[in-house]
Amino acid sequence: MGICQWSVVIRPLHDTDLLLQLTTDNEPLTTDNQQLTRMTPILPGATIGVLGSGQLGRMFALASRRMGYRVHTFSPHSDTPTGQVADLEIEAQYDDLEAVRTFARQVSVVTFEFENVPAATAQAAAECAPVRPAGSVLHVTQHRVREKSFLADHGFPVTPFRPVRSTDELHRAADDLGYPAVLKTASFGYDGKGQATVHSAAEAEAAWSRGGAVERIYEAMVDFDRELSVIAARGADGSFAHWGPIENTHRHHILDVSICPAGIPPQTAAEAVQITRGVLESLDVIGVLCVEFFLTRAGKLLVNELAPRPHNSGHLTIDAHVTSQFEQQLRAVCGLPLGSTRQLRPAAMVNLLGDLWAPNEPDWAAACARPDVKLHLYGKSEPRPGRKMGHLTALADTPAQAVAAALEARAALRAK
Ligand code: AMP
Repeated sequence: MGICQWSVVIRPLHDTDLLLQLTTDNEPLTTDNQQLTRMTPILPGATIGVLGSGQLGRMFALASRRMGYRVHTFSPHSDTPTGQVADLEIEAQYDDLEAVRTFARQVSVVTFEFENVPAATAQAAAECAPVRPAGSVLHVTQHRVREKSFLADHGFPVTPFRPVRSTDELHRAADDLGYPAVLKTASFGYDGKGQATVHSAAEAEAAWSRGGAVERIYEAMVDFDRELSVIAARGADGSFAHWGPIENTHRHHILDVSICPAGIPPQTAAEAVQITRGVLESLDVIGVLCVEFFLTRAGKLLVNELAPRPHNSGHLTIDAHVTSQFEQQLRAVCGLPLGSTRQLRPAAMVNLLGDLWAPNEPDWAAACARPDVKLHLYGKSEPRPGRKMGHLTALADTPAQAVAAALEARAALRAK
């Protein structure tokens, strides 16, 4: 008996399903089959599978359901931000590969909203449905050393870095790149987790021994003028769309404010987009990917990291652009033409972290009293400090006015 029983799939029959049924029962999709499925659009009425169940999956599911798709989500949790708005929430461990296969058999395509899904999970899903972006993209982007090495090998400008797997390598990295520096865990780091800024050998050694001898990356501290992100989509036919550079500020390593358009020279913006396009093409991404940049004081762009999915800085595209990053992810993974990324009005987004819930629930009516500010909440019941609970997007005539409006609206949440 084959691993994947296409004949038991219960869903509307589209051309893609037919193609899947024609593949042999127990073989992963071959490159030829993948090429064929790349060409055949997955149309409204079909079911999309999302690995991961956080706010990115929630906003993806809302966009998908608006366009008439069904959404299944898979993660080890229940009553999740994605599960609350999906057609089906599957609660299982990522290493339960039989559960992953069962999930993938019931959908037309699998995408993800969380890049730390284990490689074996993506592989198991790929035995039963197209996975977009492919597991190979996850493999590169879920490990900082692999990611930076890939970028450097392909000629993209990156923050100077060294892999660190021992104290010897730590000392060599410090000799090469000096202080201050940032020592980060190679895997499973996000929002500043697993990161330490080090100014001396003593601090570097203390940071290395904290958290056990897990592989790290040692990065030169970049004296940046500003941080930018470019989010872009690549369709199954190689088409490309982007929203232009977005300017970001962080607090305690967590994104705080995003502004679009970014206040940078057109030439820098064009260069950032060109690098982003090159990255999506080099990785053969079908879907959405974000490139995070540092813009140095000397005007040089350096790639900090990649996220192979919609990105927090792109949440403002929901309200400010013709096509949001989430609708674009859907279009790309379904093999549909990409939508227009034209911006309707300058916009700014501010994150709402759990800290805002202390000592009591924020004053939502105060934020809603501002007609050009849009409230987004993710349905999380536990407002822990540093946890992303929602965001506000303000639309205005200029980026500066949008930032002021977003910050004022956030302050109003706690004014009482
Ligand atoms: P990351 O998890 O790599 O995106 O880092 C989170 C934030 O920490 C970045 O957005 C920067 O604000 C800061 N950061 C990380 N790496 C560096 C670096 N090499 N130089 C300066 N700031 C950094």
